[in-house]
Amino acid sequence: MPDLRDILRVRPDTRLAEIDPRGTPGLPGGKTVGKDPKRWSKTEVAAISQELAGYQERMFASAKEGATDKRVLLLLQAMDCGGKDGTVRNVTQGMSPAGMTAVSFGPPSEEERRHDFLWRVRRALPAPGYVGIFNRSQYEDVLIVRVHDLVGEDVWSQRYDAINEFEAEQAAGGLTMVKVMLHISKGEQKQRLLDRLDDPAKNWKYNPGDLTERARWDDYQQAYQDALTRCSTAAAPWHVVPADRKWYRNWAVATLLRETFADLDPRYPAPDFDVDAERAKLLAAG
Ligand code: ATP
Ligand code: MG
Repeated sequence: MPDLRDILRVRPDTRLAEIDPRGTPGLPGGKTVGKDPKRWSKTEVAAISQELAGYQERMFASAKEGATDKRVLLLLQAMDCGGKDGTVRNVTQGMSPAGMTAVSFGPPSEEERRHDFLWRVRRALPAPGYVGIFNRSQYEDVLIVRVHDLVGEDVWSQRYDAINEFEAEQAAGGLTMVKVMLHISKGEQKQRLLDRLDDPAKNWKYNPGDLTERARWDDYQQAYQDALTRCSTAAAPWHVVPADRKWYRNWAVATLLRETFADLDPRYPAPDFDVDAERAKLLAAG
């Protein structure tokens, strides 16, 4: 089984427009998945999430003893309705919330606007031992900001290099980033927006502003194309996950995390006390 990270990694010649949002790259063969891929995925993702929980605990434990500066960040970007929230819910289902920090990035506050665009991002990074989730990220500053000319081209065009430098510096400091773009089609977005209007329980997820962004679909795809190829580095590569099929999306993101953790291979730290002596003391004390 080839590494899914290799299959989905963004390379200099990757063309977003040529990636099928309904595709299922790297999926195990027909017999493994069987006739009901949704059911298969549900079981598989639950099992992978349990594995992730084990890795998470070992990483957390080793950081507690100061033995590691390792931390993992799942960074998600997508068009509206791309499934960021659903993905997080599914892949983290087995993990401990106490070892996790999840942050969403909306329009910057007044205070945030007074600082460099990476200021709020630095503050939100996971501490050693933690798993971080970014729902949107520093990439908004070369996506919505570029599409809507919120700053001049002279400013946003410098940000790709600034992001690469920032990410390389963080990687050297023990941060492993799993950067994922959930890639949906324009038709799928329409269907999901309609669902949010049709179902009263989903109305709250609908934002009239989403239509303004949808109208700029092609500009966003171009902005994504550039962000993905310019910022897919050895230190922090990008991955495109076809996301029209939720069951594939969940499996793919869970698998990317599992492969990443397997490489990191976090271990429980050796105790810094004498286990036998402590046991003897405890038993003697009655
Ligand atoms: P979701 O991420 O699921 O759409 P939401 O709609 O609840 O969540 P909001 O609080 O509305 O979240 O924030 C998301 C919006 O903020 C997006 O339209 C995004 O493009 C915008 N945004 C994020 N970062 C920036 C930024 N640096 N500058 C301007 N807008 C930004
Ligand atoms: Mg939104």
